[in-house]
Amino acid sequence: MEKKVAVVAIGGNSLIADKNHTSTDDQYLAAKETAGHIVDMIEDGWDVVVGHGNGPQVGFILQKAEIAYGAVQMPMASLDVCGAQSQGQIGYALAQNIQNELKKRGIQKSVAAVIEQTIVDRNDPAFSNPTKPIGGFMTEAEAKRREAEDGWTVIEDAGRGWRRVVASPIPQEIVELDAIRTLIDAGIITISVGGGGIPVIRTESGDLKGIAAVIDKDFGNSLLASLIDADLLLISTAVEKVALNFGKPDEVWLDRMTLAEAKKYLAEGIHFKGGSMAPKIQACINFLERGGKASLITNPENIGRALKGETGTWIVP
Ligand code: ADP
Ligand code: MG
Repeated sequence: MEKKVAVVAIGGNSLIADKNHTSTDDQYLAAKETAGHIVDMIEDGWDVVVGHGNGPQVGFILQKAEIAYGAVQMPMASLDVCGAQSQGQIGYALAQNIQNELKKRGIQKSVAAVIEQTIVDRNDPAFSNPTKPIGGFMTEAEAKRREAEDGWTVIEDAGRGWRRVVASPIPQEIVELDAIRTLIDAGIITISVGGGGIPVIRTESGDLKGIAAVIDKDFGNSLLASLIDADLLLISTAVEKVALNFGKPDEVWLDRMTLAEAKKYLAEGIHFKGGSMAPKIQACINFLERGGKASLITNPENIGRALKGETGTWIVP
């Protein structure tokens, strides 16, 4: 049978069901639910590379470090290391759940989670305009001190206090690309590009070095899908379909968009919210413009039906 490769980027809702279910046990159960849908795809003959978000998880890790540092001078953790920790914890929950589900169904396949670094351009314009708030709130005095002593960029966040902001640069390269390709070619279910990847830059001497930034997971997974020449970029999120005029009285749910339509709707600026659906649409556009053949946006429980063409929003050349 011919190999079909899908990059499946799973959203935060697959990892944390809601604000009252955030413990690692709860996250494990949420991952279990999504693992079932991923194994359905595998049973249908797909080779799957799973990517995932990490926003709340990396936030918890960072905040624990900040609190422990403030209270008992435990060592502080840098943002890239927090990202690596989140890939480890989420990769573990997904891998184990997929392994258990494969075993239950008698499918002989291995699963591996790869700690993945994504190279960004140190001259990316995002670095001169950091916008992503991270970590806990600070007093103005603390914020100003961090700005002066640690080079942080800080902002006053809508009257709620001061916060650090970091850049969200465009992912350029996947460091572990060869390893991921080798795993896929060997038929191993691979988990990678967690949280868009650990942001790293290449220094003048050519070394890799972690950097304080956050990468959009949809952009990171779109890049991976292009680089491995995936047959499908599947973005699994909290909605069954994408809408025009989302949340307005004249909302229209879409079954399908061409690349040209997707670009037009995105440019209109009124349909897809920034920071949620807009980057997903842009990620699909990027994939198709780099030669990808199909992308699909739906929620985890509808992946099977959407792949049969019964629901979801397909974005195609
Ligand atoms: P994820 O964690 O999967 O990245 P996001 O919250 O970032 O999820 O993005 C998905 C959300 O985008 C949906 O739950 C929905 O509320 C919102 N959204 C914004 N614009 C649209 C749209 N035009 N159609 C459908 N959903 C939209
Ligand atoms: Mg998102």
